Formats: sequence, C-alpha cells, structure tokens
Amino acid sequence: MIDELTFDNTDERRRRRQNGTGWIEVIVGSMFSGKSEELIRRLNRAKIARQKVQVFKPHIDDRYSVEEIASHSGMTHISKPVMTADELLSQIDDDTEVIGIDEGQFFDMEVVEAVNDLANRGIRVIVAGLDQDYMGKPFEPMPQLLSIAEFITKTHAICVKCGNTANYSQRTFESDERVEVGAAGRYEARCRACFIPHADKPTAL
Ligand code: ADP
Ligand code: ZN
Repeated sequence: MIDELTFDNTDERRRRRQNGTGWIEVIVGSMFSGKSEELIRRLNRAKIARQKVQVFKPHIDDRYSVEEIASHSGMTHISKPVMTADELLSQIDDDTEVIGIDEGQFFDMEVVEAVNDLANRGIRVIVAGLDQDYMGKPFEPMPQLLSIAEFITKTHAICVKCGNTANYSQRTFESDERVEVGAAGRYEARCRACFIPHADKPTAL
C-alpha cells in the first residue's frame, strides 16, 4: 500500500497517465429543465473535436425512438439502449473517449461503480438524469453519482403555473409507482411553491 502511494509505478497508473485522465460530469434537474439538450450539446462538441463518443440510455425509456436520446425540444443523438450497468460496460469499445448516459436515474446502483471505473480508465463520462422523483425524493443512483462527479450542472425549467424557476417534476396523473415514463401531459415543471408532492391530489390545485 505504502509502495503504491510512494512510487506510483503500477501498470494501471502508468496506463492511465498515457491515456490522459478521465472524469465524471453529472447533469441533473427536473423534467423539461434541458438535461438532454445539454448532454447532446456536449456530445456534439466532443464529436466536432473528433473524439470517439458512445451514448447509452436505459431500455425502460422508449418514449421516443429506442435507438436515440431525444430532448423535448426535438434535439436527438443516436444511443444504445441497455438493460443494466453490466450490459453498458460490455458494450464499451476500446477506443472510446467520451461516454454519454441519459436518464441515469433508471439505472441500477451498479452504474455508480461502472461510471467510476470508466473514468479511472481515462474516459470522460457524462451522465444526465432526474435528481428527484415525482415526490421530490432523491432519485438513486443520481445522488451517489453527484457525490463522485468532478463536475456538476443543475438545470432548471420554468414553472408552468407561475413562471418561477422550477425544480420539481409534478405528476399530473394518479399512480404510486416510482417509475412511470412519460413527458408532456403526464408531468409538468413546477417551482417549490406550486409543487404538490402527493400522487393522489388533483393537479388543478
Ligand atoms: P429534460 O431532459 O431535462 O427533460 P429536455 O432537454 O428534454 O429536458 O427539454 C428541454 C426543452 O423543453 C426546453 O428547451 C423547452 O423547449 C422545452 N420545455 C417544455 N416545457 C418547458 C418548461 N416548463 N420549462 C422549460 N422548458 C420547457
Ligand atoms: Zn410556480
């Protein structure tokens, strides 16, 4: 242990130095806050810089085409749907330099270690996801990813009720299920004052 700290000469460390250092970026916010737009913007810039980019999303979210991530404003980027963090790891090509992950909140907790391993390998990993569920509760594994990320961006929407800064995703239908995929018409962006964190209350309130 002391040897490793003092001499810093393991094969793994040498390899990391050669590849350059990786890091983790996390983009969080409510629905409609522009997370996907921001993720797609960063991925497109990496591609302009001729970096090898791979993009993933959890298979659960097939609101739009399964083979792409999409923003509510119509921006898209090709992506591979994967069921688990393990499957994501198995899909990484050797020459990949940047990895994008959308809808990170729908991954299993293993994604935290997977993302960390990828960054340790010298890869820039960008994860976008909801930081809170429809009740306003932290949405794992995003809190854990926020803890280990080098860079964090919080995006905000506009409250549809009053125009203030929105930090919450209001569910506009009744369900106690944490995962209920859907966008416009099923959820709306709300500020702290207008958010009603109970699934069973009518949203007209
Ligand atoms: P997220 O990934 O955070 O759900 P997207 O990137 O998919 O967000 O969509 C952001 C876009 O959603 C905005 O640029 C805007 O065109 C649209 N939009 C719809 N409703 C709202 C709202 N209430 N506040 C802000 N943007 C909204
Ligand atoms: Zn409001």
